[in-house]
Amino acid sequence: MGKKLAFIFVLISIILVSIYSYRLKNDILNAFHVIDKKTEMLNTGGGEEMDPSRLDGRLVEYDENIQEEIDVDFIFEELERRKTDQLILVNKWNTLSENYEPAPLVNIVGDIPSSKNEILLQESAYKAVKELFEAANNDGLTGIRAVSGYRPYSYQSQLYNAKVNSFSNEYDLETARIKAAEVVAIPGTSEHQTGLALDVSSLELLSTADPLVEEFKYTPEGQWLYNNSWKYGFVLRYLPEKKDITGIISEPWHFRYVGIPHAEYMTKNKISFEEYINEIKEEGLIIFEDFNGNKYQIYYVQKGNHDILLSDLFDSNNLVNVSEVGEDEYVITQKIDE
Ligand SMILES: [Zn+2]
Repeated sequence: MGKKLAFIFVLISIILVSIYSYRLKNDILNAFHVIDKKTEMLNTGGGEEMDPSRLDGRLVEYDENIQEEIDVDFIFEELERRKTDQLILVNKWNTLSENYEPAPLVNIVGDIPSSKNEILLQESAYKAVKELFEAANNDGLTGIRAVSGYRPYSYQSQLYNAKVNSFSNEYDLETARIKAAEVVAIPGTSEHQTGLALDVSSLELLSTADPLVEEFKYTPEGQWLYNNSWKYGFVLRYLPEKKDITGIISEPWHFRYVGIPHAEYMTKNKISFEEYINEIKEEGLIIFEDFNGNKYQIYYVQKGNHDILLSDLFDSNNLVNVSEVGEDEYVITQKIDE
């Protein structure tokens, strides 16, 4: 009886040990399985099955993005190198700082009949003025005279402060400043700081007290300029009907160089420079054929909005002008080949 009991005890022990071993083995196997799953999820980035063709697609797309960034950086470097400030807008609301430096200036007086010994303009404007005066001469208008060009910030300050001083005898300082601003430009708000603006008058008016008067409009010289200056890249900047937009009353003597074909576009569409820059920004792209039959595309790009530069429309070989119109903002003028 004792032997039989001992046998049963051994048998039960063997069965228990076997069951325990089996469960232990399963637990270990399950644990490995979990580790395998986790590794797989890490490799595929989300527990999905790996699909080699999709991964390739993603790599190609990634490469294209990098290539596009490289292209855009390269184009913007080129734009930076070629940029001018031909279309820089200066008015009461868009001012130039004391530190603004125009492109190199040249004295136009040697070639162009003037009322002073020194009148400075940017070279691009000077070349255009020369053509303008030659054309006027050829049409028999020999009395046009250049009167005033580049005016540095420091000089604007001098003029303004002198006016404030003269008014401060009659008014308190605040009022004197307001009164002065009505007759003299507040420093930084004058286009003359760019070296792209020129005041002109006639020989006849120069013998009077003030040659820069509304009357200039009715002289043969004023009339001729009104009708022809756009052909040489100049706009009559302050027309009476635009004074609410420009912030300046009629000035039939003040011409601004903006270049070809912009001057023609503004003149023919009867829009001010302010309206023109707005139109380019809003439209994004303007196609224009000038009076010589040359076709241009004029468009606006920003660092963050440059799709056109990567399209077939952009052609760096046909660039006429790149003008910076704000920080990382450009108006690009390009000739269209026919
Ligand atoms: Zn002026």
